[in-house]
Amino acid sequence: MSIGIPFDNTYARELPGFYARCQPAAVPAPRLLFLNRELAVELGLDAAALDSPEGAAIFAGNAVPEGAEPLAQAYAGHQFGGFSPQLGDGRALLLGEVIDRHGRRRDIALKGSGRTPFSRGGDGKAAIGPMLREVLIGEAMFALGIPTTRALAAAATGEVVYREDSLPGAVLTRVASSHLRVGTFEFFSARGDIERLRTLADYTIARHDAELAGMPDRYLGLLRQVAQRQASLIAQWMSVGFIHGVMNTDNMSLSGETIDYGPCAFLEAYDPQTVFSSIDTRGRYAFGNQPLIARWNLARFAETLLPLIAEDESEPAVARAVAQATEVIDDFPALYQAAFLKRQRDKLGLQQSSPDDDDHDLALADDWLTLLSGQEIDFTLGWRRLADAAEGNEAPLRGLFADTAGLDAWLQRWRARCEREDQDAAAGGSRRAVRMRRVNPWLIPRNHLVEEALAAASGSDDLTLFNAMLKAIADPYRETPEHARYAEPAPQALTSCYKTFCGT
Ligand code: AMP
Ligand code: MG
Repeated sequence: MSIGIPFDNTYARELPGFYARCQPAAVPAPRLLFLNRELAVELGLDAAALDSPEGAAIFAGNAVPEGAEPLAQAYAGHQFGGFSPQLGDGRALLLGEVIDRHGRRRDIALKGSGRTPFSRGGDGKAAIGPMLREVLIGEAMFALGIPTTRALAAAATGEVVYREDSLPGAVLTRVASSHLRVGTFEFFSARGDIERLRTLADYTIARHDAELAGMPDRYLGLLRQVAQRQASLIAQWMSVGFIHGVMNTDNMSLSGETIDYGPCAFLEAYDPQTVFSSIDTRGRYAFGNQPLIARWNLARFAETLLPLIAEDESEPAVARAVAQATEVIDDFPALYQAAFLKRQRDKLGLQQSSPDDDDHDLALADDWLTLLSGQEIDFTLGWRRLADAAEGNEAPLRGLFADTAGLDAWLQRWRARCEREDQDAAAGGSRRAVRMRRVNPWLIPRNHLVEEALAAASGSDDLTLFNAMLKAIADPYRETPEHARYAEPAPQALTSCYKTFCGT
């Protein structure tokens, strides 16, 4: 069977000097572990043809499909606050782009496909566990409606990769709106290569903000658009308890998608200080810091754009550019807060508000979160059971709290606020519960179950738990007895010492 992928490779064509051409490494025994048929169809590909030894050969890097032009992208990045002028795709290759069924351009890239000119000391490889983890968490984010890159496939290589242990190797095929990141701009900015920066910015605009193309103030416009997308994205993370874990500037996508699922994890007991990543020893990327870090990363992006925003190199022009960019950065907290408030209102079941309600509703949401953190309530269950309370069934929610005094006082305020929206309290309550269950998931990928599924896949070559979890997380809002175990928090003893590791 022949596999045709209609590549159209603008990155290779329009951005010479921004990448190194490179072929994926051959591996001994390609075998498909996962194929995202629904995504394949969305991309206009033949899912049945891909689900074959030929497909496995492509997804393991052994065969380069016709029309692909594999390349490793150059980028730099601030990692944990320190600048690395040269990172780049050390174990990833962009195969090319396709136009999906909705007319959107999507990157198809391999991760774990061997060494590239950017590999530095690394082996360019990846292990089954971390790659399947990226599949699971990415699909969970997608099902939750959060912008994300997605896995098209994961293939075992039949090769051993050496980390702390010897692990079975795998290659992930990742689909993204683009792989343009803050770090891509930093790479050329650090080299003072203004002409390439301009080419890159115009390419980014054509790809993500086409309405700005050709406008005189398009670079400032791009900064504003990226700020808006990040504000919205981080507000969504904060609304489901997602911790990215490694928000370095090379992992901040200009498209506004969640990218690079390494040591990420979902909160269980709510505590804004939560950090799971073993390398984040100072808690820089703790759950509650994520909005601040997004702003910090945005400031790094703004710095790279200054020479483009300024009309010329004169001092007044540069000062004006700095002032304009600073204004965008200073506005970020308000953008974020607006996006966050919108999500919180949805989660609280509120749908009518005037600007006069903003302070009240923000305080209502904050006080609810304080209640959750005060008694280490499971974040997902707390919100979900609030939906039951909306229709008069308070017992499940109360059952989560050891001390319900604060809860009672808060529920009274929440009910008063809800009643302002309802003509008929009983009917309003049940409609509210239905709405709330559409935005407050019943299940998330629970850390202990993710680990259990990955351990079986990697250690015993058994994909049963992985496939079962994939099915459950694809349907996060519907309560069904079949998926009951996914709705249960991990035993507290497990969560409190839970650590995640970078998938290197
Ligand atoms: P990450 O933390 O996955 O975002 O990766 C940070 C940088 O390290 C990127 O430049 C990666 O390409 C590179 N990198 C990560 N793992 C490997 C590896 N196994 N071999 C080579 N480079 C790697
Ligand atoms: Mg990365």
